[in-house]
Amino acid sequence: MEQATFRLINTRKLRLYLVISAGVLVLLGLYLASRYNYLLFHSLAEIFSIVVAFGIFVVAWNSRRFLDNSYFLLLGIAYLFVGAIDLAHTLAYPGMNIFPGYETNEAAQLWIVARYVEGLSLLVAPLFLSLGRKLRIYLVLVSYALATSLLLTSIFYWNIFPQAFVEGVGLTLFKKVSEYLVCLILLVAVGLLFQKRGKFDKGVLRLLIASIVATITSELTFTFYVDPYGLPNLIGHFLKIVSFYLIYKAVIETGLVAPYNVLFRNLKQSEDQYRDLYEEAPNAYISVGVDGHIKMANRYAVKLLGYPLDELVGRPFYELYADTASGKTKAQKLFQRFLAGEEIRDEELEMRRADGSKMWISLSVRPILDEKGRVVASRSMVIDTTKYKEMDQLKDEFIGLVSHELRSPLTVITGTVNTVLTEGARLSPEETRQLLQDAALEAGALSHLLGNLLELSRVQANRLFLYTEAISVQNIIQDTVERIKPQSLPHQFVINIPSNLPPAYADPLRLERILYNLLQNAVKYSPQGGEIRVSGKLDEGHLVIGVHDQGIGISHSDQAKLFGPFQRLEESRLGGAGGVGLGLLVCRRLVEAHGGRIWVESEPGRGSAFFFTLPLSKG
Ligand code: ADP
Repeated sequence: MEQATFRLINTRKLRLYLVISAGVLVLLGLYLASRYNYLLFHSLAEIFSIVVAFGIFVVAWNSRRFLDNSYFLLLGIAYLFVGAIDLAHTLAYPGMNIFPGYETNEAAQLWIVARYVEGLSLLVAPLFLSLGRKLRIYLVLVSYALATSLLLTSIFYWNIFPQAFVEGVGLTLFKKVSEYLVCLILLVAVGLLFQKRGKFDKGVLRLLIASIVATITSELTFTFYVDPYGLPNLIGHFLKIVSFYLIYKAVIETGLVAPYNVLFRNLKQSEDQYRDLYEEAPNAYISVGVDGHIKMANRYAVKLLGYPLDELVGRPFYELYADTASGKTKAQKLFQRFLAGEEIRDEELEMRRADGSKMWISLSVRPILDEKGRVVASRSMVIDTTKYKEMDQLKDEFIGLVSHELRSPLTVITGTVNTVLTEGARLSPEETRQLLQDAALEAGALSHLLGNLLELSRVQANRLFLYTEAISVQNIIQDTVERIKPQSLPHQFVINIPSNLPPAYADPLRLERILYNLLQNAVKYSPQGGEIRVSGKLDEGHLVIGVHDQGIGISHSDQAKLFGPFQRLEESRLGGAGGVGLGLLVCRRLVEAHGGRIWVESEPGRGSAFFFTLPLSKG
């Protein structure tokens, strides 16, 4: 940082030295020219300042859009005419012999006219500072043109302009007084400028003041000369060059350098903004060229695909796709469509990350065209849809499972009812009762499954309403266990609840559903039988109910997944237990609706315990 500042100061200094050296060289050259031929010097010096004066006009005029006040525009117009009058002065200079009959007097008259125009313009220009951009430029131009023509006519045609130089005597009183007057005007102009210094950049103000001071000094030297070829005249012209150059610098600074700096700063800012938007976007953006190679990728794309940026850029796009029909093959087809200039929206493809793992993505591609309408590259957005795809697959699986779970009890029910109807006469009352009991059991399971589905659809639609009241959990536990018992003979059911457990504040039917789901799982996932125990205790202002079994258990990694939708663990699927993976999700939603929480404690092979909390009755 320090080094950078140091370098900056150094380059600035260097530039200043160069400008000063170039300036000194120009002045030295002019001086040498003056030694050789004063007329040559005068012409060169004047032409130099005339060119600069026109330059001031050209810059101010063309950058008027950037100028936020009319000061410089007015000066620009003024210097156009100052330059024009100075040109007339140069051409009329003694020895030029361009306007026959005109001598030193006319040249001096033109000089003083140019200085008046310059001085008065510098005097009034600060008044235009507060005018914004409302300067009526054409009116100003016409006024200057008119004033200049009148002044020139009064010198060359009407001969009414006061004498400035008398041959053999020197400068007239009018000329001398005028020079002092111009100095005075310029001093007031400096004062006004200083008063309005807040409206200028510091550097620009310094240039302006330095320029006016140079003009004042130049004017003072011109009051001395007796001979238009003398030393004061030489120094005066030097100072005039310096003065014009400084104004020119000030106009360039304000009209070009500063606005460009602002423009570049704005441009840089907006570029940074868009770059940030592109780089930090929570989607992957990739650009592919017509040669099929990746040209650009944002940070998210790098993260998603797992390649470092320099390995991603330049890589053929198809390498990113999995070797499947929905991977490489589809990507190639989409690429052809992109080459044909077609826009592609939300196409599902299979990609392959750097580590070889696959993912599903949704791809949208917009071709970028050049001015002739040819495709040059793509803007592609890649959204990782693996999660949704998996969800979708789970849903499909779930629909299959539900249909199966609905069909098997229905088959049993239809079968038993048909048997009783057709074979009724031949069956003993005991056999008929057994058949109908089987049918009732299956009907119960069916109704339970439909109940779970209904509860979930209510949760999904945000329409789960609880009918809470103060209830004794013992009774409900007792009833639910009685309902489960017929489903499993090899299990021993134990209820372990202290008799003084306070009442809970819950929806009795929902509590029954939670318990039924947990007890049914305990039965399903302990195929070897064993004890199924329901516990209850008071804990930190709520009840904790537990359902314990001695079944297959659940590994720690699986425990986290259990309460999500359609989750069925590998072991239970392989074990052949029926189910659709909704019971625990329903339990979780119902417990949460009561303001409680549900969790599992389990060791694989040694059984599981599911706990949930219920709020206590306030009454
Ligand atoms: P399911 O209809 O499959 O039983 P649940 O949502 O009730 O659905 O349970 C989800 C999964 O959690 C089950 O498939 C099973 O793998 C596991 N699980 C649930 N309860 C137990 C338990 N008591 N013992 C072992 N695993 C269980």
